Amino acid sequence: MPLALTPGVALDSRPAPGVRVPNEYGGKGIVSAKEIQWRQLGACRGLDPTIFYPDDDDEALDAKEVCAQCGVRVACLEYALTIREKAGVWGGATERERRRMIRQRRRTA
Ligand code: SF4
Repeated sequence: MPLALTPGVALDSRPAPGVRVPNEYGGKGIVSAKEIQWRQLGACRGLDPTIFYPDDDDEALDAKEVCAQCGVRVACLEYALTIREKAGVWGGATERERRRMIRQRRRTA
């Protein structure tokens, strides 16, 4: 699991959900102030990040329960869809579910 893309990890210690940080974390880019705002409010903050990286969709229920109560779920999901995040549960959606959403959006665009 890439540390730079770890839901549940606080920004003040390690990157928060989806935080893209420079080389020292092996990330892909820089965190913008706008992105930090919603990530700081994530319900996953401080939780064990491993629950957001289940081996398959059937094991994603714990993460989905957390996301369902998260006030920044939509921003998180849109972020993951925008960057085509491939790993983990974001905005309550697994990678497979996000791929499905992207296909549906393409069809309706
Ligand atoms: S939607 Fe889920 S993964 Fe995204 S910030 Fe909220 S709790 Fe974390």
